Amino acid sequence: MQSPHNNMNKLLTDADLCVKCGLCLPHCPTYTKTQNENESPRGRIALIQAWAGGHLAASKKLLEHVDNCLLCRACERVCPAVMPYGRLINNFREQMAADRGSTLAVSLLKTVSHSKAAGRLAQSGLKFYQTTRLQKAARLLRLPSLLRLAKVERLLPDYRERQALAAYYPATAKIKGSVGLFTGCLGTLLDYETVTSAIKVLTAAGFNVAIPAQQGCCGALALHAGDTETARQLAAGNCSAFAYNKLDAIVSIASGCGSQLQEYQQAEFAGKVTDISQFLIKSSCDFSARLSPLAASVCLHTPCSLKNVMREEHGALELLQQTPGIKLTPLPVSVQCCGSAGSYMLDHPQMAEALLGDLLALALERQPEYLLSSNIGCALHIAAGLRERGIKLEVLHPIVLIARQLRH
Ligand code: SF4
Ligand code: SF4
Repeated sequence: MQSPHNNMNKLLTDADLCVKCGLCLPHCPTYTKTQNENESPRGRIALIQAWAGGHLAASKKLLEHVDNCLLCRACERVCPAVMPYGRLINNFREQMAADRGSTLAVSLLKTVSHSKAAGRLAQSGLKFYQTTRLQKAARLLRLPSLLRLAKVERLLPDYRERQALAAYYPATAKIKGSVGLFTGCLGTLLDYETVTSAIKVLTAAGFNVAIPAQQGCCGALALHAGDTETARQLAAGNCSAFAYNKLDAIVSIASGCGSQLQEYQQAEFAGKVTDISQFLIKSSCDFSARLSPLAASVCLHTPCSLKNVMREEHGALELLQQTPGIKLTPLPVSVQCCGSAGSYMLDHPQMAEALLGDLLALALERQPEYLLSSNIGCALHIAAGLRERGIKLEVLHPIVLIARQLRH
């Protein structure tokens, strides 16, 4: 365990890298919305610097300003001083962890994410809740609102009948290599079609796919809440679950998780993690002759974790361009965070909703027939926003669209 003195030094060393130029300010969603310096990257760094230097008390206000950060890391992408902003915030939150509570919604999310038994129970519960009359009855009695779980309830996708995953799927084309598929904690629960699509496309591209049952949550929720010890344990569990020295890559189908895996201290494991679309493009996979034409307008959203942390934003666009007839209308890379940001949408609903409104306005201008996103958190948040506005528009992972078009 680090001594408090070392931790303060770490915070001050990182914070001192900021030259206060302010170039990050126009890229920060919370600053754009509030025009308040304390809600900007530069302001938050100055607050942490003052606290770590003993010039400022850890007030409720200070914690709020830091907690309002989405950790979208748009500031880090544009910073000329290469300021490790994400690391600074996570280290600060670790220092503050004891003073912070969680809402019931966020506590539930953490329990389901961190425990396999709770995840299995949630899966059975979701099936029972949606396939009996329980959901209708609960809504009539306004139970989700009374229990302050309305935000969680609105995010739930429709339950689809699903089969247990095998631990191994052999390539169905000439063998190119072997990969591990990271499904994490909520992948199979909330995003089953993305998992099965990933298996279909990877095996059709010539890759054997291993899906170790022992893998678990990537640890992002814990780390961002300041629970570094749990994040470390989850990282160690994933590193021992994957026989990564025998794999060409560990493929991620949710950039929120992929970005966390790429920052594990276990460098060999972290170095093998890549986004699925980027991996297929880098492996020179050309599906164009095997995809049925799709004469549809498709809007592509690039999650912050994919562009600002993984820096792998080109793969999905290049992969989708292989579909004959597709009309791709990507959102500009400069578009700000959708407000999902892990558990942020649950504990900062107003800011999350304001940012989602901006993103949906931009997306709907393009009149898409599909909206694609490479991160499950963003996809659920966007889909819930569309449902609430009464707009029928399917939100999918890019790999699902490729799998649906793929001829055998
Ligand atoms: S761009 Fe970097 S150096 Fe400039 S104010 Fe922002 S964090 Fe500091
Ligand atoms: S991580 Fe995002 S929300 Fe937080 S300070 Fe940087 S740009 Fe702003």
